[in-house]
Amino acid sequence: MTIRTRFAPSPTGFLHVGGARTALFCWLHARANRGAFILRIEDTDLERSTPESVQAILDGMDWLGLDCDEGPFYQTQRFERYAEVADRLLNEDKAYLCYCSRERLEKLRKRQMDAGIKPRYDGKCRHLESTPEDIKPVVRFSNPKIGMVSFNDLVRGRISISNTELDDLVIARPDGSPTYNFTVVIDDMDMQITHVIRGDDHINNTPRQINIYQALGAEAPVFAHVPMILGSDGARLSKRHGAVGVMQYRNDGYLPQAVLNYLVRLGWSHGDQEVFSRDEMVSLFSIEDVNRKAAAFETDKLDWLNQHYMKVLPTAEVADHLAWQFADQGINPEAGPALENVVSVQAERVKTLRDMAVQSRVFFEDYVEFDPASAKKHLRLVAEHPLESVLAKLEALEDWSVEPLHQVIDDVATELDLGMGKVAQPLRVALTGSGVSPSIDKTLWLMGKRRSLDGIGRALKFIQARRSENVQG
Ligand code: GLU
Repeated sequence: MTIRTRFAPSPTGFLHVGGARTALFCWLHARANRGAFILRIEDTDLERSTPESVQAILDGMDWLGLDCDEGPFYQTQRFERYAEVADRLLNEDKAYLCYCSRERLEKLRKRQMDAGIKPRYDGKCRHLESTPEDIKPVVRFSNPKIGMVSFNDLVRGRISISNTELDDLVIARPDGSPTYNFTVVIDDMDMQITHVIRGDDHINNTPRQINIYQALGAEAPVFAHVPMILGSDGARLSKRHGAVGVMQYRNDGYLPQAVLNYLVRLGWSHGDQEVFSRDEMVSLFSIEDVNRKAAAFETDKLDWLNQHYMKVLPTAEVADHLAWQFADQGINPEAGPALENVVSVQAERVKTLRDMAVQSRVFFEDYVEFDPASAKKHLRLVAEHPLESVLAKLEALEDWSVEPLHQVIDDVATELDLGMGKVAQPLRVALTGSGVSPSIDKTLWLMGKRRSLDGIGRALKFIQARRSENVQG
């Protein structure tokens, strides 16, 4: 049997971390078993679903590389099918029309709550003699009154619940629109889903859904309910923890590889391995190994993984993602060194691609002015001679690569009998306007010849202006 999984988000917001983790597990279970992965947009809630959310979900899946084999299917395009199945259940006496008013249901609920029992519909309309004409009814599913519903959850183990705990749930509203527990069953049945992997907030829906499968004469899929994700403080993950849509992680400078690797470890493990390539995830993942305990989100670990992938992925691949950050920061990538070179130098110095872009602006745009503290400290009269020496040697240098550049600094330090820092620090301020940058040879390399010579020229002018101030003062 071919394994078929689906991810079925409701488009009422962005693709958040929990949803993305569910999508990843569904995708992995399909890929690990050479099965099919289906994307279904559950957009029946017309008031809360928006096209922007649909787009955010598609963008998020695409960015993470969670490609689907079928879909996206949209529930709003399947209303006829849901109506057809509701009619079938009505005809077979497995569903009935319910005319109970909202007021009656409210009163019933209150009575039950007051009596300390779980509120549920009492089945009044199950066997109506006559039907009121002026009320638009809902359709209710006739849930079995006796017996148990049991299923083997791949994460939670055996779960059983008595039918007496369940009531006759509404499967179509007065306007005919179908409800979640109904559409999900019809879709999973029609799409021949073999494994439903979803958040454990749906665990209470599962017995109801299994009863609907049975009424339709269909076999229920296998279920796996994955535990929720908590923030580092133990509370349910929310915006407060920085848990936003996955695209926010792109905006903040995370690589999709890092986010995927991070997500897979939220609730799943393989020994104590932390780093998994996509292929490794596919070959090692097993839904049975998902932990039933809630997983906690730790931003530090994501940062660590991000830096890891910035360092180990092919620089060209990282550079593609860096290009997005450059565009976002309004830096022209054509105006400086190749982005791959930037990656090779900066990856070990920053945690995110956004930091990499921000800290690399100086290689693409001339700085506006010296950072006053750095200039005061390093662009002093004693720096004039070393800077002039460096300038002369750099002007003559033909091979603008790291080793010869390093040699130039070394030679100047030796010739003037100065420590490396006495040459490098003023030079750094000359090149970047500030006291912080990668190692001086790599800074020169990334700066390129024209910008480096210009910077040293500016620094010398600054020092000379300082001298005349001193003389005057
Ligand atoms: N549309 C549901 C949700 O977003 C998914 C339900 C399911 O996976 O069965 O929570």
